[in-house]
Amino acid sequence: MELLRIGVIGTGAIGRDHMRRITNNLSGGVITAVTDVNTEAARGAVEALGIGANIYPDDVTLIGSGEVDAVLVTSWGPAHQKSVLAAIEAGLPVFCEKPLATTAEGCKSIVDAEVARDKRFVQVGFMRRYDKGYRQLKEAIDGGFIGEPLMIHCAHRNASVADSYTTDMAITDTLIHEIDVLQWLIGDEYRSAQVSFPKKSRNALGHLGDPQIVMLETAGGVIITAEIFVNCKFGYDIQCEVVGEEGLIRLPDVSSPAFRKGGVAGNALLMDWKDRFIDAYDVEIQDFIDNVRKNGMPQGPTAWDGFIAQVTADACVRSQQSGEREAIELGVKPELYSGMMQRQV
Ligand code: NAP
Repeated sequence: MELLRIGVIGTGAIGRDHMRRITNNLSGGVITAVTDVNTEAARGAVEALGIGANIYPDDVTLIGSGEVDAVLVTSWGPAHQKSVLAAIEAGLPVFCEKPLATTAEGCKSIVDAEVARDKRFVQVGFMRRYDKGYRQLKEAIDGGFIGEPLMIHCAHRNASVADSYTTDMAITDTLIHEIDVLQWLIGDEYRSAQVSFPKKSRNALGHLGDPQIVMLETAGGVIITAEIFVNCKFGYDIQCEVVGEEGLIRLPDVSSPAFRKGGVAGNALLMDWKDRFIDAYDVEIQDFIDNVRKNGMPQGPTAWDGFIAQVTADACVRSQQSGEREAIELGVKPELYSGMMQRQV
């Protein structure tokens, strides 16, 4: 097949980053069309890369231009649903950054649109499934290395966050990645969520509950504890330890040279989240391009996975307010997505 002609909707930080990787790092794709609510920002992104993509006034015009074989939705969250539905309506495969939509109903409308066409169009940007360390964990768990998983302990820590970061964003922006990757890792479904607030860090602004502990329980009885601590000061730190009947397995730390200096022996930590999964972003977008070129549809995280993440995040946010254990009810998984949990990346 010729190069996959890709249209990009939203040229903010991650949009420009994906444009750069498609142009400079990956193979099989070319950016032919770009749009953003700020047309000058779209033009600037195209000029910075020195590519010949056309600028369109909005998502619908870009999708209907006849210039694109697939679409990348990298605008801000509330705009995702409309662009994704328009792409499906036009029969175009679409990679959508998380969240798939900002409400469970919005995600469900996208699931329904795919089910109505009996075809997958959507891949959601849950890049951790493409991270080497998480893949090693999954391979070991699927191979029975630790026996049946019983518990997972994990942590998502940022050195600091912007003043605009709010307590619910700890779930919808931060934990959302754990929500997706953990259910994929153990092949189980969430049943309930409960959020607790330990003693508040003096480094967190007044409006922000930080740290938080989230407890998720699965249908199979696995209990997950996830610490979210977004003013931890010391670095960007992702931890995941799965405890099974026969042993435990832990996500490897990012490797960095061991040093000895000034009476200290140690390893440097990453400070910026952008660096932690930089390779995984390359692999996920390459996977999208390859599968669309080969099969006409993506194979990665599905619209149903986007729906699961949103329903689970909603339960966590409810629990932030109620302090209670909140039920997670997904309804019946459509046939279109059945059996995909193990096959997909
Ligand atoms: P950002 O820098 O604010 O970029 C969003 C861009 O979309 C901005 O240029 C914004 O324009 C534009 N935009 C807003 N509404 C639009 C619309 N209706 N149509 C077209 N463009 C529109 O944010 P970001 O960090 O790139 O994040 C974008 C999305 O990616 C978010 O959903 C975020 O959660 C997700 N994300 C995922 C990861 C990951 O690890 N997978 C990492 C980062 C971000 P204005 O600036 O003019 O409003």
